[in-house]
Amino acid sequence: MSLSYAEWASAVREGSLLGLACEECGHTNGVPTGACPHCGNRDLQQVSLPTEGTVHTETTIQVPPDGFDEGGYQVAVVEVGDARVMGRIADESASVAIGDAVALSGVITEDDDHPAPVFEPV
Ligand SMILES: [Zn+2]
Repeated sequence: MSLSYAEWASAVREGSLLGLACEECGHTNGVPTGACPHCGNRDLQQVSLPTEGTVHTETTIQVPPDGFDEGGYQVAVVEVGDARVMGRIADESASVAIGDAVALSGVITEDDDHPAPVFEPV
């Protein structure tokens, strides 16, 4: 079974993360995709991803896109299981570092069609 963006976004709103596992090469993608980015295989299986993981990379956005909160918030790529998901760090005063443990804590829905997972340190 594949995974549409709408299904992925709906899961995020409900506090869960979905991904796609490639049986050819073993790669797991944390966002919807039509084909495995590693090997091009189109036969991908929808999987549930853990909602806790570790920070793979992080950066602080100083100048946000139009329509978003003022700057100074942190975003991170979080490793959840075998996949990586981009999310926002919840507390603007909190700062996570690479390798820190984080858990899914909510969702940003400023742009309702494109919810973003929110993680907080655990
Ligand atoms: Zn693959």
